[in-house]
Amino acid sequence: MTKHYDLLILGGGSGGIATANRAARYGARCALIERGPLGGACVNVGCVPKKLLWNAAHLRHCAQLALDYGFAPLLGNFDWATHKRARDTYIAKLNGRYETGLADNGVTLVRGHGRFVDGRTIEVAGGRYQADHIVLATGSRPVVPDVPGASWGLTSDGFFALAKRPRRVAIVGAGYIAVELACALRQLGSDVSLVMRGAHLLAAFDPMLREGLTDAMANAGINLLPNRSVAGLQNDASGLTLLYGDGEVLCGLDAVVWAVGRHPNTDVLGLDKAGLTPGPGGIVETDLYQNTAVPGVYAIGDLTGRAALTPVAIAAGRRLADRLFGGQPDRHLDYDLIPTVVFSHPPIGSVGLTEPEARDRHGQDAVKIYRTRFAPMSQAFSADPRRTAMKLVTIGRDERVVGLHMIGEAADEMLQGFAVALRMGATKQDLDDTLAIHPTSAEELVTMR
Ligand code: NDP
Repeated sequence: MTKHYDLLILGGGSGGIATANRAARYGARCALIERGPLGGACVNVGCVPKKLLWNAAHLRHCAQLALDYGFAPLLGNFDWATHKRARDTYIAKLNGRYETGLADNGVTLVRGHGRFVDGRTIEVAGGRYQADHIVLATGSRPVVPDVPGASWGLTSDGFFALAKRPRRVAIVGAGYIAVELACALRQLGSDVSLVMRGAHLLAAFDPMLREGLTDAMANAGINLLPNRSVAGLQNDASGLTLLYGDGEVLCGLDAVVWAVGRHPNTDVLGLDKAGLTPGPGGIVETDLYQNTAVPGVYAIGDLTGRAALTPVAIAAGRRLADRLFGGQPDRHLDYDLIPTVVFSHPPIGSVGLTEPEARDRHGQDAVKIYRTRFAPMSQAFSADPRRTAMKLVTIGRDERVVGLHMIGEAADEMLQGFAVALRMGATKQDLDDTLAIHPTSAEELVTMR
């Protein structure tokens, strides 16, 4: 028997759940289909466990600072197993909260793998579900490079399942996941190598951030290995050995983590049955309203190939629900000015255009840059303080701020409010006219000369 709904959502990650709850509150009859734990990659093998690990690493950093402040040594060894148990319990609690939230909003949860039968019907475990509106929110999965022995390595999924801290680890990649895991593991005592195929880490970020993080990681003792192409992985009695294309090797490793990007989960959905053809790299292409090429079928989140960030998927899904069921026909997500944080040590906060992007888009002469670099006061007693760097990218005679980039302590928490200011079209003068809060690091953003 086929069950009918107003809205079917394929995928119970952050984006799918947010869409379902918003639509249900408008009175839409919704069913959400999920084969794994609720919350998707972010909650189970991404943002949440990563931030908990980042917190642990940050505590270690604070404990080191505390010595300079006159404390006796505060921390003993970090017990990975205790941390993992606490983390697993916390995540299970979040899974439960999501399930309760869906039930409270009257969303039907269907467990299993969903696949299109036609553009209006999805089959799950032998049952059929139909709706006028279907949202694809199936996310993405880590890419494993196509090299011999790759299966000896872990992806970020496997990393979070590790029962003990890897002692000697190589992380392959130079994006968000690679630098976040490398920094946290190093802070917690591992011997870490970061194997990059290019010359730089965080290639898409402002050069000031790339350089600042490269220095911080090198100072922390991370072995940065640029311009290395990985040709394979071997496992023998002495551990794992990473093989490079030029014949060199990195040996004696007890873990290798592939952090080389993610692939959209679109290949097992029977998209062809709905009349959908995946775009480049397997993505589902949408317009600004999240419409796919098939009327009544929409896509949000990682599988659309746009900024693969949890809040982006949530915002796109909620706006879509507002449009379909909330009487707001023009509601859609503006994909400009997306603030983003890299939870490295120290963290990075970034919103808007990088300096090179601004110069390309607006011309050399239209761009004026303000920057500062300082040791935050928390490190006043440190012989080798971790410095903070900040940059404002402004354009035009009124010096509208089109980019704001920072690396340093609390950059993760400072960014959100400034992202509001950029969204509202703040100029340098607006920042200058805002009174500073003293003594903070954030005040530097309103006192730059
Ligand atoms: P990213 O897209 O950030 O980075 C991928 C990295 O892999 C790049 O450095 C790229 O190098 C490198 N790479 C690609 N192919 C190869 C290869 N064959 N060999 C060696 N290196 C390779 O992907 P991540 O996997 O780190 O993260 C996936 C996405 O998840 C991010 O884009 C982000 O949207 C999201 N995310 C967000 C976080 C946050 O908000 N804090 C945290 C973690 C993930 P190159 O630079 O040379 O192209």
